[in-house]
Amino acid sequence: MSSFDFVVLGGGSGGIAAARRAARYGAKVLLIEAGDLGGTCVNRGCVPKKHFWNAAYIAETLHYAGAHGFKEVSPTFEFDRFSELVRGEVRRLNGIYEANLEREGVTLIRGWGRLLGSGRVMVDGQEYHGKHVLLASGGRPRRPKGIIGEELGLTSDDFFLLKEQPKRVLIVGAGYIAVEFASVLQSLGSEVSLMVRRDRVLGDFDDSLSQGLTAEIAEKMTLLTQTNATKLERRSDGVFVSVDGARGPGEIGPFDVVFWAIGRDPNTDGLGPSDGGLESIGVKLDGAGAIVTDQYENTTLPGVYAVGDVTGKVTLTPVAIAAGRKLADRLFGGQPDAHLDYSLVPTVIFSHPPIGTVGLSEAAAVERFPGQVKVYSARFTDSYYSFANPKPKTSMKLVCVGEEERIVGLHVLGRSADEMVQGFAVALRMGATKADFDRTVAIHPTASEEFVTMR
Ligand code: FAD
Ligand code: NDP
Repeated sequence: MSSFDFVVLGGGSGGIAAARRAARYGAKVLLIEAGDLGGTCVNRGCVPKKHFWNAAYIAETLHYAGAHGFKEVSPTFEFDRFSELVRGEVRRLNGIYEANLEREGVTLIRGWGRLLGSGRVMVDGQEYHGKHVLLASGGRPRRPKGIIGEELGLTSDDFFLLKEQPKRVLIVGAGYIAVEFASVLQSLGSEVSLMVRRDRVLGDFDDSLSQGLTAEIAEKMTLLTQTNATKLERRSDGVFVSVDGARGPGEIGPFDVVFWAIGRDPNTDGLGPSDGGLESIGVKLDGAGAIVTDQYENTTLPGVYAVGDVTGKVTLTPVAIAAGRKLADRLFGGQPDAHLDYSLVPTVIFSHPPIGTVGLSEAAAVERFPGQVKVYSARFTDSYYSFANPKPKTSMKLVCVGEEERIVGLHVLGRSADEMVQGFAVALRMGATKADFDRTVAIHPTASEEFVTMR
């Protein structure tokens, strides 16, 4: 049996980050990956998604060209050619990841790994021993239960394999993926319908973001609120969807493609011994099937750890990477207290317009600090839209707490929001107050200057 200091199950964002950091400390590391290196982010997530978002951004720029004095131009978007370009880029990144692992001395095994117990991992009938074992198996798209014909719906994984751009699209869901895919496809010319079971998208975010983006979406595409799909049926001209909700039962369609974007499930099935799940060997799972970990990423089985989407904590790439690196710092870098602080994680939703957000929503702050919250907000038209119609609004909000007005939440919906929030997140992490923002000289003319000039 081969023995290692660190066995990592899953070569996605979290697993690769932890493996490489541990190897740099001199640990003997084995990484086991069943699919393509880089995991969800590189192959079916952030990376290809951002390229499509960039293409949609160009489509929007062309849309506003006329309002900036250009004679109208209407080029054709070649979805199939662009998809192939993106797939090529992903393959290039797969190669870079493999080369990096090799250069840093990480042993890579391709195959499906199972945890048999503390320190014991099995791949294709071969057992490996690890002084420490990390589970970083990520997540997968959730499919709905109890809907007849649900298998006719695609998920985000399928989007990046499409050979041609669907003309008539229904997206079901109200979170990150639903609004990102809806925005991209609409900007690139598809007719998009978005179906949400509540009255708005992004219901768990600050009201200014969820209401603002819901309004933008309702202007650009068909938004079906308080509606649920009950049945999918393929007929000669496409997929028809039976629906039920606030307006009673009905049928919509035909659609070329229906996407389920209703959340993701942690990859814990098949991760334990074949005659029992992870729980049979003492790895506790929560009600959603995610691995329960403490703040040091310890699972309930000694010597076994978990990071990233499989823990269901904050399911973002930089979080998986940071948690994996901190774990390696703790186990192999002589930093016994190293662990990730999961508060104040900034995030961007790549909708059109995009959203940048960090910290507490106004509602969450009021609940946590009753009677101590003061909010500053602004809503305006970015000068980019001065000559255009309609004129999308930018909205910004600062959520402050206490007499010193410490900023605990910062939210923006609007043009360039995607590149605005990273720097402000540093300020919030350092404990910035409204007075600190007021003392900062504005950059003019920008939209972000509004954050340091709010009254
Ligand atoms: P993953 O990256 O999923 O990696 C897990 C790996 O483990 C996979 O490669 C899998 O093949 C492997 N594996 C699983 N089980 C086994 C096994 N038994 N044996 C061997 N290998 C196994 N996050 C952002 O921060 N920004 C974004 O813009 C963004 N966009 C996204 C867009 C989409 C469409 C999606 C779906 C996700 C997006 N995310 C984004 C989320 C991000 O992709 C995940 O948070 C991140 O990939 C999680 O990393 P991970 O290491 O936990 O898991
Ligand atoms: P999300 O958790 O973001 O959103 C899913 C939403 O779908 C829920 O909030 C819920 O909204 C709605 N929903 C759930 N079940 C149903 C149902 N049965 N019918 C209709 N609607 C339903 O999941 P996603 O799949 O969009 O993304 C998963 C995660 O991946 C994200 O949370 C994020 O962490 C990460 N990600 C990050 C991105 C980024 O950083 N830009 C981009 C993409 C993904 P409601 O309760 O309001 O109905």
